[in-house]
Amino acid sequence: MDSIKQFIKEKHIMSKLAFCVIFILIYVFLLSFKNVPYIEFMVTEEERVLKEDSKLKINYNVDEDIQHITATYKETILNQEGIVLDKVEVVGDYDKTTLGEYPVKLRAEHDGFVYEEDVIIWVRDLMRPVIALEGERFMKLTAGEAYVEPGFSATDNHDGDVTDQVVVHGTVRANGRTYLKYEVTDSNGNTRVVKRRIDVEIPEGQKVIYLTFDDGPSEYTGALLDVLDAYDAKATFFITNGDEAYHDMIGEAYKKGHTIGVHSFSHDVSEVYSSTKAFYDDLQWIQNLAVIQTGVVPNIVRFPYGTGNTISEQYEKGIMSDLTSTIHMHNYTYCDWNVNSDDCGEAQTEAEVISNVINGIQALDAEEAPIVLLHDVNKHTVDAVDDIIEWGQANGYLFLPLVEDSPLVQQEVKN
Ligand SMILES: [Zn+2]
Repeated sequence: MDSIKQFIKEKHIMSKLAFCVIFILIYVFLLSFKNVPYIEFMVTEEERVLKEDSKLKINYNVDEDIQHITATYKETILNQEGIVLDKVEVVGDYDKTTLGEYPVKLRAEHDGFVYEEDVIIWVRDLMRPVIALEGERFMKLTAGEAYVEPGFSATDNHDGDVTDQVVVHGTVRANGRTYLKYEVTDSNGNTRVVKRRIDVEIPEGQKVIYLTFDDGPSEYTGALLDVLDAYDAKATFFITNGDEAYHDMIGEAYKKGHTIGVHSFSHDVSEVYSSTKAFYDDLQWIQNLAVIQTGVVPNIVRFPYGTGNTISEQYEKGIMSDLTSTIHMHNYTYCDWNVNSDDCGEAQTEAEVISNVINGIQALDAEEAPIVLLHDVNKHTVDAVDDIIEWGQANGYLFLPLVEDSPLVQQEVKN
């Protein structure tokens, strides 16, 4: 036992000795650095400095003066704070008006010592162009009033006037809110985007008809878009997968200012009403198609056969209650109709569709905005549209696309 204690004691003394020796060695090592002064060159705006292969790269904008170079004089590595020197000289030629890289030296003096460091001055264009919008940045329009672009100009520090390179993204919708995006990129890749917000408001007392077309696109959708254009009337399309050959009509309709809502991808009620999950899977498919065609996520759904349908009862009891209480979690609202053209039922001629629509509108209370159920999969429906619009416009109605905060009609849930 004694020999073990002795051994431990000796070990302890040995390790203390070793620690002292190492400490002294470190101290001597550090002393050897004393009075080895050096200067660290810096540019005060950090974003302008890139250390690359231990060389400073100074980025600055063409036409700007270099004002930001300083140096820190450091005496020992124990004194990391250093003394900031005011005067740093750039030795070498560079042209601050011409983009490029210029190798120069930075020079500073302290206590009679001269310090130099090789650096690269990198004259770059880091500035984005500036876009000035004329007119209001937040504009209000009255429904039916045409949008007239108030104008804009764009200038760039390097390229000068770049107004003719501005691209305006978006077109002003006939109803609700639009953001127009003005974008320009200078020759050195600096991009500026500004936005203008336009809100179209329906004045009090203005009568509006919302035509809605379900089940398309079809071979008749193109002709329908032409008719709507001819009367400057806007409508809403509740799309399905429809006839795949006419999918591009969805994008076309959106571009022309109509609202794209979603109806169902398969429109097979035995499938979409078989379960909540089946409905939302189908909704995702039709949403994807809408996004591919328009670039915009739709936000209004029309349930197949309407919210008040009882057909869904055959497939899943209570599904409409479930869907109407969960649809907002999928960022949708839903809309039915209060005027039924019956164009997929009894009304098999153009004349019947016209009279059903006009009679239906006239039967509404004055404060109720007509939301008309039509289907652009029927030739006789599309043929009826010009007469419906002519009648409406002659009676002081505007034909507008539905938006989220339109006076949407929602039927009572029956399943
Ligand atoms: Zn339908």
